[in-house]
This record gives sequence, C-alpha cells and structure tokens, in this order.
Amino acid sequence: MKKHNFSAGPCILPKEVMQKAAEAVVELNGSGLSLIEISHRSKDFVDIMEKARSLALELLNLDGKGYKALFLQGGASMEFLMVAYNLLNKKAGYINTGTWSSKAVKEAKMFGEIVEVASSKDKNFNYIPKGYTVPEGLDYLHTTSNNTIFGTQIKEFPVTDAPLVCDMSSDIFSRQLDFSKFDLIYAGAQKNMGPAGTTLVVIKEDILGKVERQIPSMLDYSVHLSKGSMFNTPPVFPVYTSMLTMEWLKDLGGIPAIEEINEKKANLIYSEIELNPLFDGFAAKEDRSHMNATFSLTRDDLAETFNAMWKEAGINGLNGHRSVGGYRASMYNAMSLESVGTLVDVMSELERKA
Ligand SMILES: *Cc1c(COP(=O)(O)O)cnc(C)c1O
Repeated sequence: MKKHNFSAGPCILPKEVMQKAAEAVVELNGSGLSLIEISHRSKDFVDIMEKARSLALELLNLDGKGYKALFLQGGASMEFLMVAYNLLNKKAGYINTGTWSSKAVKEAKMFGEIVEVASSKDKNFNYIPKGYTVPEGLDYLHTTSNNTIFGTQIKEFPVTDAPLVCDMSSDIFSRQLDFSKFDLIYAGAQKNMGPAGTTLVVIKEDILGKVERQIPSMLDYSVHLSKGSMFNTPPVFPVYTSMLTMEWLKDLGGIPAIEEINEKKANLIYSEIELNPLFDGFAAKEDRSHMNATFSLTRDDLAETFNAMWKEAGINGLNGHRSVGGYRASMYNAMSLESVGTLVDVMSELERKA
C-alpha cells in the first residue's frame, strides 16, 4: 500500500533520489566500488562535493555574487553556536519565532550580548512578529525562515544594515526569495535535501574575519572554506544524496517550479482546515507555513476515529509536536499534491461521518 509520509524530519525524499542513493552504496558509477568505501580525496568524491556546492548556489541564484557553499556536520544545532563563534563580537539581534530560534539564542549568549529584537512567545509562537524596528550596531541579525514545530513562516524579512543570518532548515529550496539579501544561510539536510548528517551553510565571504577571538579549526568557517568543505572527512552519503535531490529539483525547473506545487499543496490543506468545522488551524492565517500545517480537532471525541482513518489511508507522521499538540502535516518538496489530497479526503470523510 502506498504510504503518504507527512513526517516533520527526517522526512520524505524523492523516490528516485533514494533509489539512486541506494545504488551508489552498492556501486558508484560502475566503478566496482561503493560510494561509502572510496577515499573522500578521490576524483569521484571531490567531483560530487563540488557539484553539490555549486548546485546549492545555482538553485539559490547566488552564483557569482560572492557566496560559497559548505557541507558541514553537527546539524543545524551546530550552526547555532558556529554563527556566534564566527560573527559575534559584542552584540547580535535575534527574532525569536519558536523552539529552534530560542535554542539559537541560548548558544549565542555564550559569545556576547543578545538582543531579542522581537518574539512571538506570548502566544506560543503561533504568529510572526511584525512592525518592530531593528536596533543599529548589531554584528548580525538572526532569523528562522520557517518554524517547523509551530507551522509559521516568515513572508517578509526584516530590513537591517547588519549581516542577515537565516536558519532555513525546514524550507530551503521551497520558495523564491531574494537570497542575496542574506549573508549567511544554513539548513540541516534532513528536511528538504537528504538524510541527516550534513548541514548546508551558504556564506557571503566578506562577512568573515571580523571577530577577535580565536576559533577552533573545526568551528571556523574560513578553515572549511579554504579546504573546499573537505577540512576533514565529509559525510559522504548525506552529501551525495543531497546532491541527487538538488539535481532532481533542477530537472524539475528549480525553485520557481517547486514553489508552484508547494503553493497548491498548502492551499489544498488550508482551505480544508478553514471550511471543515471539525478542524482548527494553529498558526495565524497570514503567517501559515507552506511546509508544515499545524491544526487540531475541534471535537476531542473524534480523535480516535480520525487517527484510525488516516492510518488506514496509509498516512504516516501526522502527530503534532508535543509543544503544540494536535496534528502537523509536513509537506516538503518531495511530497506530491496527490498525497495531500489523500489527507484532505480523510478530513472531509470525517465530517461526513461525524
Ligand atoms: C530541524 C530543525 C533544526 C535542528 O536541526 P538539527 O540538524 O537536528 O540540529 C533547526 N532549525 C530548524 C528550523 C529545524 O527545522
């Protein structure tokens, strides 16, 4: 039976990407050797790393604009501290829109003064703060483009003279933005790119070299850049799989093409949530995420029936995060409109039955 995987992360990837990744584990490009047994210094792997780095910049439309891409380890959580280690001299600003940005603030506080420029904590992060002013004199301003747990997404990014940093872990490559507004973008692979184990970091090179502290080599962006993202053994399988996903996306027509599909998926589920009296959306309407839709039942007595129905339909991973409750439908790039349709059919079937 076909599974419809709405899991928040690790999550759905394109079927053909998983097929090709599995083949490369057995044998890479007819070489008689596995991807995971060859030297990371071999031409085969160096080509893969270079392809992955250049595809990331190409898809984000950042070619020739002073940016470089890295594939690092430690997850997005490692970037919470690396960003501060490499960029924070005295004072940085953070927009606090959820669990992940709160964690980023906690790490950064070890390196300097943190100004919480705006926060939506007062309403359990169900909206994106607006209308605030960003103070002057920040070393950088940190934002989180999509709040995976709460189902909100920044549509308009703050304007600032300071370098703009963004955690795009859960909506990277999903929508068109002017990516050149950002000076540093990072994203754990396991939401829209590949398996857990690598993090894409895209850096505008001229923001580096401005802090006075010494930085340990493994945490120093400049060291990784000077070694072509190969300072030490890179996570070869996650990098290869991410490269395959980026090729898949490029063949599909890149971000403009996937954005159109993502909008259709989001419209489909949100109109059901709005029209069906048995469901309530969690996030403020204008801030709703196109990647993670959070909602709950208006009648607790129907939970058992609904849970049985969606499981019966082959749906996986629909339970909400414990800090929000209810349900969360994660609709990353690889999810088809048809799978979202399956969920919406179950929701309207519940209304007919109730
Ligand atoms: C999942 C997620 C993270 C954490 O990623 P790890 O790779 O597990 O450290 C951070 N930020 C956002 C927005 C996420 O969705």
